[in-house]
Amino acid sequence: MKFNTKTIHGGQQVDPSTGAVMPPVYHTSTFAQESPGKHSGYEYSRAANPTRTALENALASIENGARGLAFSSGLAATDCVMRTLKPGDEVIAMDDLYGGTYRMFTRIYQDMGIKFHFVDMNDLEKFESHITENTRLVWVETPTNPLMKLADIAAIAKITKEKNILFAVDNTFATPYLQNPLDLGADIVMHSATKYLGGHSDVIAGALITKEADLGEKLHFYQFATGATLGPQESFLVLRGIKTLHIRVERHSENGIKIAEYLQKHPKIDQVFYPGLKDHPQYALANKQMKNGFGGMVSFTFKSKAKADAIQFLENLEVFTLAESLGGVESLANHPALMTHASIPEAKRLEIGVTDDLVRLSVGIEDIEDLILDIEQALK
Ligand SMILES: *Cc1c(COP(=O)(O)O)cnc(C)c1O
Repeated sequence: MKFNTKTIHGGQQVDPSTGAVMPPVYHTSTFAQESPGKHSGYEYSRAANPTRTALENALASIENGARGLAFSSGLAATDCVMRTLKPGDEVIAMDDLYGGTYRMFTRIYQDMGIKFHFVDMNDLEKFESHITENTRLVWVETPTNPLMKLADIAAIAKITKEKNILFAVDNTFATPYLQNPLDLGADIVMHSATKYLGGHSDVIAGALITKEADLGEKLHFYQFATGATLGPQESFLVLRGIKTLHIRVERHSENGIKIAEYLQKHPKIDQVFYPGLKDHPQYALANKQMKNGFGGMVSFTFKSKAKADAIQFLENLEVFTLAESLGGVESLANHPALMTHASIPEAKRLEIGVTDDLVRLSVGIEDIEDLILDIEQALK
């Protein structure tokens, strides 16, 4: 099955009892047993629920994995991977991460005795120099939030495979329509399904997809034993979102590059961060590991370097909504330093380039003319 068919049919079957084309929302905590321990495969909804199973099968299908797991949020999915580590273990993570991921690593797991190295994955020699006999996990986002830096998934996977280190990729920004980390050698894909997979800004959800069934089973045990599962209503919403993932992300990408090109020519704008621009420092890598486009996330800074200019621009927007989050059909704008990345200490934030004049756009699927007119008037 090809991708656009998988988003609709992958892992799906009609409801066996009624023929319902979409899986019913099984609002039930428990399932009747015929005889003690003898049941239909479902016992208690923390372990499994049929609506969640339908979503998990779709997740596995679109990411080309053996197992999908649906969580109560993206961070719950990340947390599940972290729980497989022990004190003394080491993690190498990218130096530009979603703020909440960085907060979890440094304020929860670091205190529990896990050592983190935040490194620029662009420099593979430097990355390798951080590997020790205790390295258990490599965690990357690509493209990153909000600076759109890329990591070479295939090159990193080659190293982690040799050394038997688990390799996880947060694929939230790219989505499986644009990038398939498991095909490039990663062991785990993580998603904030709150974003493009759900696609309509109406649900908080997370996902893990594993290449191998054994690892999926192990993670399922941790999820079951700790409890951060996705409810049936939310599972239904994410599953419905996935059915249009391909056409949404196609349009997000068409609009995204047009806005990046518009901003690049604007006299008030300094840098534009978008992997589909020819002068993105990793444009060649973007072309190698991404396909079908480069997504709807665009960040930029002002020539003035003034925080006040960024704030005024954000206040002036009319079609774009000033809000955290991304990946929904509607266009959103965000000030990372004051909003999504406020949990990163200022010195660290400035060091990685999340400056006070940085604006991040989640370009939606509205008419491009309206989006550009809105940016134009807000910049005036
Ligand atoms: C939003 C986001 C997360 C966290 O997901 P939640 O669903 O908000 O818990 C993780 N990674 C990236 C890249 C995100 O954008």
